[in-house]
Amino acid sequence: MTDWSTLKTDKLYVDGRWQDSRGGTLHGVINPATEEEICQVVQSTAEDVDLAVAAAKSAFGQWRTTSAAERAAYLNAIADGMEARKADLIQAVSQTLGCPAHITEWLHIDGPIYAVRYYAQRTGVMEQTEKAGHSIVMREPVGVCGFITPWNYPLHQFVGKVAPALAAGCTMVAKPSEMTPLQDYIMAEIIDAAGLPAGVFNLVPGPGTVVGAALSAHPDIDMVSFTGSTRAGVEVARAAAPTVKRVCQELGGKSPLIITPDADLEAAVRWGCEDVFINSGQTCTALTRMLVPAQRYEEAVGIAKQVAEEITLGTGPDAFMGPLSSARQRQIVVDYIQQGVSEGARLVTGGAERPEGLEQGFYVKPTVFADVSNDMAIAREEIFGPVTCLIPYRDMDEAVAIANDTEYGLSSGVWAGDVESALPVVKRIEAGLCFVNGGEFNYDAPFGGYKRSGNGREFGEAGLDEFVELKSVQLPA
Ligand code: NAD
Repeated sequence: MTDWSTLKTDKLYVDGRWQDSRGGTLHGVINPATEEEICQVVQSTAEDVDLAVAAAKSAFGQWRTTSAAERAAYLNAIADGMEARKADLIQAVSQTLGCPAHITEWLHIDGPIYAVRYYAQRTGVMEQTEKAGHSIVMREPVGVCGFITPWNYPLHQFVGKVAPALAAGCTMVAKPSEMTPLQDYIMAEIIDAAGLPAGVFNLVPGPGTVVGAALSAHPDIDMVSFTGSTRAGVEVARAAAPTVKRVCQELGGKSPLIITPDADLEAAVRWGCEDVFINSGQTCTALTRMLVPAQRYEEAVGIAKQVAEEITLGTGPDAFMGPLSSARQRQIVVDYIQQGVSEGARLVTGGAERPEGLEQGFYVKPTVFADVSNDMAIAREEIFGPVTCLIPYRDMDEAVAIANDTEYGLSSGVWAGDVESALPVVKRIEAGLCFVNGGEFNYDAPFGGYKRSGNGREFGEAGLDEFVELKSVQLPA
């Protein structure tokens, strides 16, 4: 699908119907590779949010009583719909985010389809009870949920919230990023075709400061799940506080990769660089601080340079890295590159200039900095672009200290001679995820951060627990 006019992007999906906004304007969505507007999407108002929340609230009473088997059938129907519309989902993410389509398929679409089926298999958890002394502990859905998502992995973030919430028996109002709303429209069509009862799922696109803020503060929303920057996550929590709703935050990162002295340096550095450059560096878990033994430092710098210079830019079938998602994001990254140079880091390759031959699109060259100290802004702040920093360390105590010297704690990596020798280092790192010797992302396991990277977990059993209230039924002893 490349004709986005067939999607009803001038409308909201509320109470099982495509509806007009009450006063909302239209906002252009840009393809970051061509810099052209590809469609216009409605910017909902606070009044639209009220109507969507009212629909979700009224649907909750019935939806919470559906059986686990019924909810599993709906989730499987949604996964089937995603399979059937896979090409559309790929195009939607690729054209709004800029990720090459062949990478979008495995990086952005396959995992979310798997995750929907995973939660279809886990709806039965909601019917399980536990005995605790003379009590029975029951699981119940938390209620009406508000979902606020960013643009960098837009289908993951949608599914990471919507699928477990449906499995638990919650109803919801979703707000995508202004920059990447199209896959949410396709998902609304898929959900509609799957026949979910009206009001269980509602889609209200629009700006964070209007729609996101209204969802966060809404008295009839029982839980708000937010993925995005730490800055906006704090705003959401602040707005949510007076109504004492549950707040799940999935925020930013500045994650370390410790390469031990006995590691296969070529494999480790190559994997670490590609981990940063994929998705143009716009990955919250990106291992952007590469910690390398001092005695092998220059060798590692040489490998990183070679990897960065081998990266093919563009959106075609040979490209590894597309543009940044917006002109604004490109400018932020360029500013950081210039700041790195002025802070005294060594620019090994890349830089702030536009890549040759790419006159259109928000491209930035894959960039490697060496001689970075952990107190530089490029080592402390989330750049969210294709920029990696190589930091030398003398011994493992120093490596762990540098790894943990960050306000974030989302992800990390250890590359050692073997998995067994990596595990003691893994235990010392303060982060919710650790990738060992190139280990792969796993949707069956919890995803989330320590410290200012957030307080929630998505995916796996823990991702379902976020949507559960526990009721203790105290029986006569
Ligand atoms: P962002 O915080 O600017 O926006 C995220 C969402 O929040 C958008 O939908 C936006 O409209 C909305 N929003 C903005 N201000 C708001 C406010 N005051 N109240 C309510 N909603 C508001 O982030 P972004 O630029 O879209 O995404 C990049 C950030 O997301 C990075 O920091 C990245 O690390 C983080 N991220 C985290 C995870 C994770 O799971 N931990 C995953 C992906 C991205």
